[in-house]
Amino acid sequence: MIRYYSTNRGVPEVDLAEALLTGQAGDKGLFMPDPIPRLAPGFLARARDLSYPELAAEVLGLYTEAAFTPAALKELCDDAYDFDVPLERISGTRHVMRLDRGPTASFKDFAARFMGRALGRLVRERGRELLVLTATSGDTGSAIAHAFLGVEGIRVVVLFPIHEVSDRQRRQMTTLGGNVATLALDSKFDNCQALVKQAFSDPDLAGLGLTSANSINIGRLLPQSVYYIHAASRLADVAGGEKVIFSVPSGNFGDLMGGLLAFHMGLPVERFVVATNANDEVPRFLETGRYAKIDPSLKCISNAMNVGHPSNLARVVDLYGGSMDEVGNLRVPPDLPRMRRELHGVSIDDAHTRAAIVEAYKTHGAVLEPHGAVGWAGLQSFLDLHPELAGTTAISLETAHPAKFPEEIRALIGIDPPLPDSLRGLDSGVEHHREMATEYGSFKDFLVREYRA
Ligand SMILES: *Cc1c(COP(=O)(O)O)cnc(C)c1O
Repeated sequence: MIRYYSTNRGVPEVDLAEALLTGQAGDKGLFMPDPIPRLAPGFLARARDLSYPELAAEVLGLYTEAAFTPAALKELCDDAYDFDVPLERISGTRHVMRLDRGPTASFKDFAARFMGRALGRLVRERGRELLVLTATSGDTGSAIAHAFLGVEGIRVVVLFPIHEVSDRQRRQMTTLGGNVATLALDSKFDNCQALVKQAFSDPDLAGLGLTSANSINIGRLLPQSVYYIHAASRLADVAGGEKVIFSVPSGNFGDLMGGLLAFHMGLPVERFVVATNANDEVPRFLETGRYAKIDPSLKCISNAMNVGHPSNLARVVDLYGGSMDEVGNLRVPPDLPRMRRELHGVSIDDAHTRAAIVEAYKTHGAVLEPHGAVGWAGLQSFLDLHPELAGTTAISLETAHPAKFPEEIRALIGIDPPLPDSLRGLDSGVEHHREMATEYGSFKDFLVREYRA
């Protein structure tokens, strides 16, 4: 059976249900599966013929056997993944995977919808109550709020940086109400995340049943491994060992961790292009072996990636045999040569991001938004360095819908991205957020006042 250990190795291993329900380990480390399960022989040959929910149920079943029956898991995946996952050929062997067709139009829906249903079920079975705390750089908050809205036994608090999310991103979370509270901070995402982390380790709040729906929760990563297998098995002969290249626009590195899990499960990958915006602490780390966070993080148009110290870096380092604590101290260096063989770091600034949006549209007729454009530009620059890989299937992840960023898209390519159904009606909804000082005392007072039983 798979157990989940903390990257800080300071607490005993737990089972999946406990890892999901607690979010962060008691020693402030992040849970990692041991062992990482392998895809069964012959699975990749079958994978291309499975529907997305079928694929998700088979892959996630390798992790969840102790917590859910196969029938329960299948039901959960059918319900969660009722939208398309388009794979679009842009030119030659270069593709974009659109992960923006869920109800809040970003890839965060893949994990949020699984987690909302999984936690809802666990809470029901165990008669527990949960208070989910989530800091968001733009898209997590709305995906989690939608996925948990109305789930019995679970209440949600979302903290977001008021000046660093787009109008539509804000409205997606503030117009819900119900069991979802939203707190607007005149601050950075990293500060929102720090408040949430402090609450988890505050003994005064132990009775509130706190858990995290940020990608520090392993429940966010497991579902994010599925679409890598989906894309690769449909676009390449992965069953025959053909390798693919993925380009992953990254902020907190949860999306990349999903890909790395798929790789360790046995998916043949040539290289992951790790594409960040100007917050380039990880590409620099890959280059130099020295890690320095960026504080405060830089404000870029790919706002959901404005992260100066990615929480999942501790997991990436762990996967490569090293150890990094929650504040970014490297206790044991990872195997850097191996990291460099498997991961290619690249930082794309705003000018370059905008140029990529224009290029993709003018040359290929493809509409990308700022995050997907960072991935696309990162892929181009990697392939420019490696002409020998020009014939390799390459897949860049488009992580949000262009209609979430209409002003930017209109200014660059002169079109209004058609609004998906999920974003209709948003501009007229009533907003419910409250403003809060970026200060732990205020946050704690709020939690105690509103949620103390
Ligand atoms: C969250 C987000 C990212 C970054 O994903 P991480 O898992 O934090 O690396 C990229 N693009 C969009 C649109 C996002 O919402």
